[in-house]
Amino acid sequence: NRMARTEREAPVTVRRKQPRFEDMPEYKQVLTQQLASQQLHIDNPFYRAHETAAGATTVIDGRKLVNFASYDYLGFNKHPNVLAAARTAIEGFGISASASRLVAGERPMHAELEERLATFYGVDSAIAFVSGYLTNVAAISCLMGPQDLVVHDEFIHNSALAGIKLSGATRRLFKHNDAADLDHVLRTVAGDYRRILVIVEGVYSMDGDVANLPAILKLKAEYGFWLMVDEAHALGILGAKGRGTFEHFGIDSKEIDIWMGTLSKTTSSCGGYIAGSAALIAILKAQAGGFVYSVGLAPALAASAIASLDILRKEPERAAALRRNGALFLKLAQEAGLDTGLSGGFSVVPILVGDSLRAVQLSNDLLAAGINALPIIHPAVPEGQARLRFFITSDHTEAQIRETVAVTAERLKGLTERNFGLASIDV
Ligand code: PMP
Repeated sequence: NRMARTEREAPVTVRRKQPRFEDMPEYKQVLTQQLASQQLHIDNPFYRAHETAAGATTVIDGRKLVNFASYDYLGFNKHPNVLAAARTAIEGFGISASASRLVAGERPMHAELEERLATFYGVDSAIAFVSGYLTNVAAISCLMGPQDLVVHDEFIHNSALAGIKLSGATRRLFKHNDAADLDHVLRTVAGDYRRILVIVEGVYSMDGDVANLPAILKLKAEYGFWLMVDEAHALGILGAKGRGTFEHFGIDSKEIDIWMGTLSKTTSSCGGYIAGSAALIAILKAQAGGFVYSVGLAPALAASAIASLDILRKEPERAAALRRNGALFLKLAQEAGLDTGLSGGFSVVPILVGDSLRAVQLSNDLLAAGINALPIIHPAVPEGQARLRFFITSDHTEAQIRETVAVTAERLKGLTERNFGLASIDV
């Protein structure tokens, strides 16, 4: 009978008692970290609630702070046109798209946003997803499969890694922003792959340096791979009109096969996009699981992203102001002897401080001094390379930047004598 057969064939693991979540090593790791910061009397800098829209300034615990921890690169998050566009969309269409766009979630602002993005990149077409993270996961896993090869910069964002993993493609990494190493990987990789995709970021999210696109495009001409560029931290930042990495280098945008970006940063919304050829976008619209089987972008978020792109087009001086601020921050930090790593002085400037607890303590010290900048610690970056990451905006004033760099240098000096090693912690 059916029942007996099912029982006989059931794998042993199904009947075995599963571990309690409390007993998992992952949970013990979380507890160890909490205990370590308690014993060192270090407050947790993460998940602090902001009591206002966070831009160049913010409010936490009733205190107004200079803020370097939000992606509001060009100050659009509180721009009246962006807010008005969102309000009008909510009034006309409600909060939610209420279904996948395929079935009943399509709204006029979806096509409009995608047309604007395609025009922005000078390509045929674009597709918008509900998150930037999902965009990488859905697009990469849709285009690549087990017969394929993905070669990526070693510092690529976690969302791209997740997409590659899901695709089942063979994965190889090359040394950060090192075209010679990419060449080496491509030359030595064994196997007859159906498709080869190379993934880089326009401006790297943790280090703030710019992809060496001209050198990578030379390799593309030689090897013929597809090139995908994640513009999360480059859109609205690089190039005279803020159009991103291709404008920065004076490259024809069509030379890049897959433009990817998020709507959560410069465009002060939420969501992500791919822009490219009509066929590429048609494939993703029909077959990317994260598009087909997920709700459409909320109408207000699509509308606010459109409004942001409008302001960007009309007011390129905002992008110029951000670049001026980034260059000033970088110059002052270097003059103060701070380690800014690889940063090119655009949207992201890290200050490397070494171990994770030192980074957390420095962040807390800055908070006490009225500056909000968050630590990036292991596993987001390798152990020993913990840093404070400063997101620069066009709205920061010169005085705020000068004060921030001076206070950071001073507080970091105060910390160098303290021992933050975990060896003495009793856990
Ligand atoms: N790509 C990069 C390079 C990112 O830095 C991020 C987010 N920090 C994402 C993708 C994901 O975008 P989102 O936060 O909009 O989901």
